[in-house]
Amino acid sequence: MIFGKNVIIWDLDDTLYNKTEEFADLLDAAMAKALIEDLKVPLDFETAKAKVTESFRIYRDGGEIFFREYGVKPRDLFIAYHKIKPVEKIVPYDNLLDKLMKVPAEQYIFTASDRYASEKILKHLGIYEYFKDRYYSVEDFGVYKKNESADVYIKYCSKIGVDPHDCVFVDDSYSNLEYAKEAGMTTVRIYYRNNSAKDKTYIDYAYKGLLSFLDEITAKAA
Ligand SMILES: [Mg+2]
Repeated sequence: MIFGKNVIIWDLDDTLYNKTEEFADLLDAAMAKALIEDLKVPLDFETAKAKVTESFRIYRDGGEIFFREYGVKPRDLFIAYHKIKPVEKIVPYDNLLDKLMKVPAEQYIFTASDRYASEKILKHLGIYEYFKDRYYSVEDFGVYKKNESADVYIKYCSKIGVDPHDCVFVDDSYSNLEYAKEAGMTTVRIYYRNNSAKDKTYIDYAYKGLLSFLDEITAKAA
């Protein structure tokens, strides 16, 4: 058990691997390319990329400015972006699978990547076989984000047959934790530079980096 709960649900992107500045820049570039080439947004590459970065900074979503100002449909960007998401550039943690296998709880993943990209990411991280039947994408629930309502967390739990009150939800993005908490879960935030969400009452625990959290929950179990 972890914090008295039997189930742990992991976010994938930037939680089970660390998004470096360099990788974040590649993601912004990939989104700009999808917007221009697939969705025909009439901007040059540098302008589009700068707007993606700005949109992420303001809305925590690189596409939001384009949904508001350029009539881009979230679903179209979701698909075009994930097709070219440069997952091969992710640097996996050493021995991630071994570390996860020591976690004293039933484990699942809930990702805002689509099925196509999340399968590639799990394979790249060396944990695909382990999570093969235990990962779900927002698209499995007909949505493209997991920071809009508690509803998707409740649906997730009913899909895997557990009570939200018996789940720990782990995410780097605190806007997701608000709704996981509302659904009844215990929440853990993984942060990198500093704990910028200290004031958020819906965050139960915060750890600097995935490995410090894994060390603590596996040490307690040992
Ligand atoms: Mg994340």
